[in-house]
This record gives sequence, structure tokens and C-alpha cells, in this order.
Amino acid sequence: MTAGANARMPGRHFLQIPGPTNVPDRVLHAIAEPTIDHRGPGFADLGRAVLIGLRRVFRTTGPVIIYPASGTGAWEAALANTLSPGDAVLMVRTGWFATLWHEMATRLGLQPILLETDWRRGADPDAIGAALCDDTAHRIRAVCVVHNETSTGCTSPVAAIRAAIDAAQHPALLLVDTISSLGSIDYRHEEWGVDVTVAGSQKGLMLPPGLSFNAVSPRALAAAETARLPRSYWDWRAMLAANESGYFPFTPATNLLRGLEEALAMLEEEGLENVFARHARHGAATRAAVRAWGSAGGIEVQCQEPRDYSGSLTAVRLPEGHSADALRALILRRFDMSLGNGLGILKDRVFRIGHLGDTNDLTLIGALGGVEMGLRLAGVPHAPGGVAAAMAVLAGQS
Ligand SMILES: *Cc1c(COP(=O)(O)O)cnc(C)c1O
Repeated sequence: MTAGANARMPGRHFLQIPGPTNVPDRVLHAIAEPTIDHRGPGFADLGRAVLIGLRRVFRTTGPVIIYPASGTGAWEAALANTLSPGDAVLMVRTGWFATLWHEMATRLGLQPILLETDWRRGADPDAIGAALCDDTAHRIRAVCVVHNETSTGCTSPVAAIRAAIDAAQHPALLLVDTISSLGSIDYRHEEWGVDVTVAGSQKGLMLPPGLSFNAVSPRALAAAETARLPRSYWDWRAMLAANESGYFPFTPATNLLRGLEEALAMLEEEGLENVFARHARHGAATRAAVRAWGSAGGIEVQCQEPRDYSGSLTAVRLPEGHSADALRALILRRFDMSLGNGLGILKDRVFRIGHLGDTNDLTLIGALGGVEMGLRLAGVPHAPGGVAAAMAVLAGQS
């Protein structure tokens, strides 16, 4: 089966969107094992293995909650468990995903204060610190940031944001979306003093969509005791009580949990530090390709702040007057490769190359080759040599 074509396309479809990502065969085989009884005696071993294994990936010694839901569900759980109607929350519009989280907070009855950006960099710790210093009455109950903004390919400096909150001596909780960074970009829930970390299965964790996570701090657990936003399905307390013995209060996504067990083993076998280094290298190689294409002007890396470059994905701006969606459609038809689309104000202005999850050097070179041929066929002004520039980075000659 190919995406949108009737004629058979030989070889494997290139899924180069920034999530869902390619699922390794080892994980697919684990998921394909027979479904087991989630209340039977054997289940607790699996439950405990993934609940404990996840802590190493989040870098926490505290609990991680697993929902059978997409990442959006875990966003809601983070807010609903810690906040009350009318609470002010400080959010930073780094891009489209931050915008969606902000809309959700508004719909839930919170009162977000929104810091704007130009969607070409991450959140500014100084701006967050200044907003908290202005809030002398401590109305702001939480700061919400997206670690890796998947619509722009810009990360936000979470440790520096924690330091800004501390410098302002402000008691707000820190809630961080790591849906497209966990297992791809260095992240430390406990060391960075994050109160709730939100994540999902279908990006760096190399699983299909369908699981999402909340890692929670002791302060977040304390907030859950007094938070008054309505919650039932998302309530941490029933989850944590059942998780004590390795079980869940309602039917978990059993087969995906088996896949998660396998994915966690694969991350450990490679070593998290090596996983992060691989993603950083692939980001650098991709940016080298984009800079080479744009050396004649026009094509640019969307992220303008080197500190905020993403190892998960690269968003590429096309020259004014050229359609990123038309380019993506051509590349899909001709080369059977899916690239990410532009979202929100970046619709049709950028396309996104995902390089997160189970990816290696040659897959990336194949993807960049498809983009370079697509630019040529679509008549987008560019300088050739992007693939060569990426190869030089990957081969360590640049
Ligand atoms: C993918 C993504 C989401 C949305 O997750 P769903 O699984 O589609 O609900 C939210 N935030 C970020 C940063 C993402 O990359």
C-alpha cells in the first residue's frame, strides 16, 4: 500500500514526518504477539517493567502515568490534575502545538497569559522571568512550555526556564510538553525541576500512536490533591493506586505496552546519550543540506536561533511565491516520501523533515536526496549540493 497512489510503488515508503515515526520491526513484532489478560497474573510483570523503564527515559525517580491516548490527552491530564477553574497559566506561543495547548487551557476554563514569539526560536527564559516578577500576587499557577516545537523545529531551554522561575522566587508549577523530544533530545525531568512532563508514543519512542505519558513531581502530586478542574478518566490518583501493583484502573493498551517494553530495551541497548548524539548529528546534517540549497538565497532553516536547533526535525522555508504543499505532493507522488506540512501561520510556507526515532545516516541521505530532486522537479530556485553537504557532515568532514 502506498499513500494515495494506485500503481504499486516498489520499496519502502519513506515516512519522514516528525511523528508518527517509523516503527522498527522488533517493536511491530512485539505488538503482534497475542493480547493478554490485563487483569491476569502475568500482566503485572509487563506493567511494572514499562512503568519503571519509562523513569529512566524521563530521568526521574518519581511516577510516570501511562494513558491509552494521543499526546493531546496527556496535555489535558497535566492541566486537569494540577489546576482549578480561573487559574492563570503562563504559556509561550512558540508555534502551532503551543497554540493548541493554549486553546485547550482556555476551553478548560483556565486564564492563560500568552507570550508571543516569531515562531523562529524557542521560549525566552528572560521573558518568562519578567512575567513572573510582574505577578507579585502569584496569580500564575503554572508555566507551560513546549520543549520541542514540532511546527518550527525550535527547542526551548527548559533548564534555563526553571532557573528563571526560581530567580523570580515564584511558586508556579512547570509543565513541559516533550511529545517530540523525549527519547530524541536530552531531557531531564527531575534535574530540571519539571513538575509535569507530557509525552507521547509515536515520535522518539518509535511506537505507533496511542500511548501518552505524564511524569509527575512531588509538587505536582500535592497540587492534584487540591486542584478543582473536573477530571475522571484523567485522574492520576486512581492510576497511581493501581500502578502500585503493576495494574491499571481500566483497560490499558496491552499490545502497545508490549511494544513499549521492546522500544525501551532498544533505547537502552543503543544508550540514551548515543541516541541524543545521533539525533543532533542528523539535525546538523539536515541544516547543512538546507543551507547549501539556500546558498543562492530563498530557502532557509525556519529556526534562527542556534541554541534552539532541533535534533528531531528541521522545518524548511521556501522562497516567497513557492508552495511547500505542492512540493510535498510532488515528492510523495514521484518518490513515495511523506514530509511534514506547514502548520498555522506556516501553512504552505514550510515543509518539515522528520529525523527522529528509528533513523540512520543512509535513511537521512535518501530523504534529503528526495527533497533535492523534488526541488529540481518543482522548479524551486535552489543551489544543488545539499545532499553532498549533508554527507560531508555525516562522514565527519565538515
Ligand atoms: C505531536 C505533538 C502533539 C500532539 O500530539 P497528538 O499525539 O497528535 O495528540 C503535541 N505537542 C507536540 C510538541 C507534538 O509534537
